[in-house]
Amino acid sequence: MRTIRSAEQLTGYLQQYQPHPGGVLVPTMGALHQGHEALIRQAAHYAQQHNIPAGCVVTIFVNPTQFNEPQDYQRYPRTLEQDTIRCQNAGAKTIVAPTIEMVYPKGLDAPAPTLPAVAKDKGLEDQYRPGHFQGVAKVLQNLFTMLPPTAAIFGEKDYQQLLLAQALVRQLNLPIEILPGPTVRDHDALALSSRNRFLSGQQRLAASAIPQALRNAHDQPTIARAQAAMHDTLAHLSIEYATIRHAHTLETLPPDTPQDATCPRRAIIACRLGDTRLLDNAPWPLPPDSPLRNL
Ligand code: AMP
Repeated sequence: MRTIRSAEQLTGYLQQYQPHPGGVLVPTMGALHQGHEALIRQAAHYAQQHNIPAGCVVTIFVNPTQFNEPQDYQRYPRTLEQDTIRCQNAGAKTIVAPTIEMVYPKGLDAPAPTLPAVAKDKGLEDQYRPGHFQGVAKVLQNLFTMLPPTAAIFGEKDYQQLLLAQALVRQLNLPIEILPGPTVRDHDALALSSRNRFLSGQQRLAASAIPQALRNAHDQPTIARAQAAMHDTLAHLSIEYATIRHAHTLETLPPDTPQDATCPRRAIIACRLGDTRLLDNAPWPLPPDSPLRNL
């Protein structure tokens, strides 16, 4: 495995792996955990199955433009040494940890892409993190230009971001397959997140209400009842949203929509514990093989 940190190293690398030096790309901000490792394993496996020479390429870049709170950017953990070990163990072939100038080359930058419909006016991350998705769309456009991949993997954990990535490649007409990666969870089913380390012991215990809310929603006969069950379960946390949406468009649906309706739906939650925001989501109702069913 090699690590690329400078423009010079990148140039040599790009020549070696044209036309798809991005291989199967796993974009991350570092502070890697087992959730990222699972995405890397999935990417390495996909690359092997599809004979993609560049293999799994992990980018580690704390993207300043997607942080709507300066303090969140400052305190975001930077752990390249440990991240390198995790990438290696999970089967990555290359890490690209670029400088800001490599991602945002002065004077050469293309205009920011128009935000796809899934990333605006939904009352979800688009509302609670103003400017966040503009930053995500821009960094993805630039990463896909810097390291054109064959495919890229995004975690379902950041569900609206996954839909944004899918819509963005369609909109920009990029021949990149966007693959979803299942959410990896802790022993109590809390979704792993680089931000979980900021939780106090008490907050960490309280956070298990989030997967439990997804579980409790599953038992309810209608969207209205399922949303109420999530709010009840999360009553001790500060809820930003706990809602059930169309799984592809993120549009709201009639509250009396029954569980057995045919359209794909997703239960989506964001909560705040002190200064830390936690996200989670799952299909509603839960599929038979969901680990959340056993809570
Ligand atoms: P980030 O943690 O923001 O650097 O995310 C990098 C990628 O890892 C994104 O595609 C996330 O959706 C994904 N990811 C984050 N947490 C998890 C998790 N618990 N399970 C699977 N993927 C995850």
